[in-house]
Amino acid sequence: MRVCILGGGTAGWMTAAALSKKLKNIINSITLVESDTISTVGVGEATLPHIRLFNEGLGIDESAFMKQTEATYKLGIEFCDWGRLGDSYVHPFGDFGQTINGIAFYQHLLKLTKHGDYGVLNDYAFGIVAAKNNKFQLPKDGKSPLQQAFGYAYQFDAGLYAKFLSGFAQNNGVRRIEGIVVDTLIDKSSGDVTAITLDDGQQISADLFIDCSGFRGVLIEQTLQSGYQDWSQWLPCNRAVAVPCERHGPLSPYTRATARQAGWQWRIPLQHRTGNGHVYWDEFISEDEATSVLLKNLDGPALSEPKQLYFKTGRRNHFWKNNVVAIGLAGGFLEPLESTSIHLIQEGITNLLELFPHESPSPSANTLDKAEYNARMALQFERVRDFLLLHYVATKRDDSEMWRYFSNMTLPDSLQEKIDYWLHRGYVQRYEFGSFLPPSWIAVMLGQNLRPQHYDPRVDNYNFVELKQQAQAMRTDIANGVNQAKNHADFLVAIGAASNSQLIRAKS
Ligand SMILES: Cc1cc2nc3c(=O)[nH]c(=O)nc-3n(C[C@H](O)[C@H](O)[C@H](O)COP(=O)(O)OP(=O)(O)OC[C@H]3O[C@@H](n4cnc5c(N)ncnc54)[C@H](O)[C@@H]3O)c2cc1C
Repeated sequence: MRVCILGGGTAGWMTAAALSKKLKNIINSITLVESDTISTVGVGEATLPHIRLFNEGLGIDESAFMKQTEATYKLGIEFCDWGRLGDSYVHPFGDFGQTINGIAFYQHLLKLTKHGDYGVLNDYAFGIVAAKNNKFQLPKDGKSPLQQAFGYAYQFDAGLYAKFLSGFAQNNGVRRIEGIVVDTLIDKSSGDVTAITLDDGQQISADLFIDCSGFRGVLIEQTLQSGYQDWSQWLPCNRAVAVPCERHGPLSPYTRATARQAGWQWRIPLQHRTGNGHVYWDEFISEDEATSVLLKNLDGPALSEPKQLYFKTGRRNHFWKNNVVAIGLAGGFLEPLESTSIHLIQEGITNLLELFPHESPSPSANTLDKAEYNARMALQFERVRDFLLLHYVATKRDDSEMWRYFSNMTLPDSLQEKIDYWLHRGYVQRYEFGSFLPPSWIAVMLGQNLRPQHYDPRVDNYNFVELKQQAQAMRTDIANGVNQAKNHADFLVAIGAASNSQLIRAKS
């Protein structure tokens, strides 16, 4: 089995690193082709906690990786101005409070808030309270179950991550070739790609091609014409302008997404700079205006010229077609509101590892593997799409054309059912394949004021005085834990993930 990966962005090098480590005994050779003249997309800084499993699977040391990628910890995303102008909440990685009498805590809080001021959901998550105080500690260092009940991810420079993994993969035997693909050779009877031709005339043949060529989709689309499901009617933002700026103030261990009139703006603090971008719908705002909104809302001076990006949200009809598997932007793109793209790359890789074709696959087995792979990835994409769309529709905002568009939208059935069930009963329907578990849905729904008609009636079986005491005890436990946790910047220095001099400004 010879594998050729086309593209050396985050997707290409993550795939190369994983395949070279995990399929050593199955793959004879892995070649990765990338072009220095075709740049990578150059954005993509916030991640989901699952990436820790990916790194751990490769045996990567956390602090070494963080130091080389200028990484910070991420405890969640703060959403500002989404439910209403002036609102803010954090979607953390983990659950809220502690189950009481076998019933999730948010159900008890729904009752409590009917009877007075017992705080909001955010007060009952260690990760959120730590984030808002710019503190960090590892879950295992928490002194109580509540102080351990959170997850974390990273904010990093994706270009440096790709470089880091490139070294890892090449040490594991991956051959890197520099060149531009100008042609592909196809086997007429099967329709498979047999080789790619580079601009210097070199031909690279392989049994399996992995298309990580970004939005171009050189093999999956330009050659095999997989087709694209356009989801712009649900996620219509189609452009972004990105710019890094100088970092000022404390180093926050969370990403911020602020809703704007025709889109939203991200802020992602890294060790050496803060990443910023304005994702927008060009129907309602010009490139100049969108850039001006972005530049007006930076923490510090811009460090480069703003970069414009164009995209169409959706996914390929087939992620795996013939002997080509598309991973990364080549497979599809959903806007970066919940930092899901690198995670979807990881999903693509994990599923490929599980369903990797054996040396002599029978044609039928191979067809079954492809069908399974495509079905799994399609579900992943659809479920992320629904979750992103929830942010736009669970809102009272109607102060611009874009927000009015969302208030009149017909939702995908899958999302409409989920919202209906939540309003009816206060429960989140579960699913098997999907990146966001019920606490994530609850964080956004309650964070954006989508309250169910009633709390779980079984909550009334529990003594109300005891409930109030327990809620207070939880908040005290979390506050105590956060008080004892280290400042985020100090924590990075303490574990050797950053140097003191570099972060000195973080404490100003
Ligand atoms: C505005 C925006 C914000 C984002 N923010 C986030 C985020 O916060 N978190 C997150 O997880 N994701 C984010 N993403 C997505 C993330 O950037 C990508 O998923 C990730 O970088 C992977 O990109 P890629 O490797 O698929 O493609 P690219 O980075 O575009 O790489 C493509 C590669 O293919 C090569 N190539 C292309 N054509 C040829 C050819 N003909 N011959 C040879 N080589 C070729 C190029 O040289 C390059 O190496 C964001 C995306 C956008 C657009």
